[in-house]
Parts: sequence; C-alpha cells; structure tokens
Amino acid sequence: MEHVVLGKTGLKVNKNGFGALPIQRISKEDAVVLLQKAFQNGINYFDTARAYSDSEEKMGAALHEVRDQIIISTKTAAQNGKDFWKDLEMSLEKLQTDYIDLYQFHNPSFCPKPGDGSGLYEAALEAKEQGKIRHIGITNHRIAVAKEAVLSGLYETLQFPFSYLASEEEVELVELCRQKEVGFIAMKGLAGGLIHNSASAYAFMCQPQFAHVEPIWGIQREWELDEFLSYQEQAPELNEALLAEIQKDKDQLAGEFCRGCGYCMPCPAGIEINNCARMSLMLRRAPQEAWLSEEWQEKMKKIENCLHCGNCMKKCPYGLNTPELLKRNYEDYKTFL
Ligand code: SF4
Ligand code: SF4
Repeated sequence: MEHVVLGKTGLKVNKNGFGALPIQRISKEDAVVLLQKAFQNGINYFDTARAYSDSEEKMGAALHEVRDQIIISTKTAAQNGKDFWKDLEMSLEKLQTDYIDLYQFHNPSFCPKPGDGSGLYEAALEAKEQGKIRHIGITNHRIAVAKEAVLSGLYETLQFPFSYLASEEEVELVELCRQKEVGFIAMKGLAGGLIHNSASAYAFMCQPQFAHVEPIWGIQREWELDEFLSYQEQAPELNEALLAEIQKDKDQLAGEFCRGCGYCMPCPAGIEINNCARMSLMLRRAPQEAWLSEEWQEKMKKIENCLHCGNCMKKCPYGLNTPELLKRNYEDYKTFL
C-alpha cells in the first residue's frame, strides 16, 4: 500500500484519498457503509467541505469512533473572520470532533494573507493556536492564486485540479509544491467524469515524479471504491495499453474544455452551465441515452435564453468564453437529436 506525506505537515496518508463531495447524493446509511468500508481497507484520509451540504455530518456519523486513526480535511468559503469561526464551529460539531487536521480556504478568489483586511488568515492562526485546527491549507481552481499561495510560504497544502489532462503549467505547479514542501492534494483526478478508466488515472498519479501527490477520488458508489481499493493490492502498471488510452484522451480533450466545476453559476437564465457547456464531450464519452432525455432537452433549450450578461465568463477560473461554448454545445446537441 503506497503512502504520501503531505509536505511539511508530515501527515502520512494512503495514496487513495477519499473525496467526500459525492456522498451528499446518497443516503446517510449508504454513506456510512461506504466510508467505513474505505477506512477498514486502509484509507485514512477523508476530505470534505462545509459547502458539501450533509457530507460532514455523514462523515462524523461514520468515523467518529476511529477519529484518532484518520486524517480529516474540510474547507471554509468564509470571506471574513466572523464567518470563518461560524463555519469552523459548525464543521467540528458535524464531524463530531474537537479538531480538524487540515483546514482549507475553499477556492477563494484571492490568496488570504495576514493584514489583507479580510481577517481570514489571522482567524486561521488563532484557530491553530487554540488547537481547533492543526494545519492550514488552501484549495483553488485558479493557477495564479494557487502559485501565489505556494510561494507565500503561508500554506502547508494546496488542493488543485490535477489529472493526466493537466497542462504543462499545471505540472510545473505540482513540481513547485514538491520543491517548497507544500502538500499537493489532487482533486478531479478523473477530470470531473471525463476520464473513465480509473486504472490509468491511478497509474498516472503513482509515477515517481508525482510521489508527493495525493489524489482524492470523489466516491459515491461501492464499485467505485472497490476499483480504487483493488489498486492498493496491485497497482496498475503504466503499460503501453494504458499509455495509449491516456494519449487518446489527451488528443480528444486537448485545448479548452469545461471542467464542470460550476464556479460560474448560478446563471440568471437558469442554465445548468456545468453540464450544458460540456455536453458534446459527455455525448461522446458516456452512454448517450441519459443526456438525450426530455429533461435534458429542456435544460439544453434554456441556452436559447442566454442573456449574454457575461457573469459566467467573469467567474470561470479557466478563462473560458462560456456563452460561446454553450452555443457550440447546443448546436452540436441538436445534431444528435
Ligand atoms: S452569459 Fe448567459 S450563460 Fe452566462 S451567466 Fe449570463 S445568462 Fe447565464
Ligand atoms: S464554464 Fe468554467 S466555471 Fe463554468 S463549469 Fe465550466 S469550467 Fe467551471
């Protein structure tokens, strides 16, 4: 079983991290079974967020009895000190614990620093002093903010999207984290559902240059967990077949594509941008029937009501021209119908 040390935190975690965003979508009973199975099979790192509705509560219910054997990270999207404390106290209560191993600022649009007027970093330091959190981290989708955070020396970990579709600049960021001993937590290792072969995704992360990378797999179903657990017994080899698969995906997904992160939402015209703006990819990379249902036809039709307000473009961390992307995806969608 491979392990990763999260930079200067010294926290030693199983190479399979558990991303607890998707357990929002399943019942509490099922979530408890899933989380306990993960723990019983060696997974010791669980990542959640205050913003993931009842994910923290489910995690608390499943794992409070083994609290001393696991590492928990959660996140706050607070914009000021007052909300920071509100979030932290709530997370502690829901997780049924009196400390968080790693507390992260959740995708802020800027890099919180002492004296920046937000009071966020000061609050985190105070929480650390009080023993309520043990390490301070940051998550982000914007490479500029991520780099600034790593170079600031203020953060012990960075959580950032990383998969085998990563750009050169993103790979450089991973290397920068290694050099600065900042733990690198990889979210979206399956590129938000666009990568279907978990074996190639896992094998990619296990390459020697990514020994310090900790992927957190978003797990919702037992078979998904079983797949990742099976790689602990026998790590998939990055052989010719897997390399060919990776190359094929890279060719298909080259350039600008919507990652489905949803940071551009809500949309005043009610468009479900995070799925509609990547419909062409979904149609080609997943079974089509579900995406062509009446419900989805209605959702796609809403693109006709786009107000061209540009709000989505301003918020997209990948700098995509979202209205244009929606239009292209809608035209393509109609050809499938
Ligand atoms: S530009 Fe169109 S898609 Fe984007 S937020 Fe405005 S209405 Fe929604
Ligand atoms: S358009 Fe940009 S912000 Fe919106 S879901 Fe896609 S990648 Fe995320």
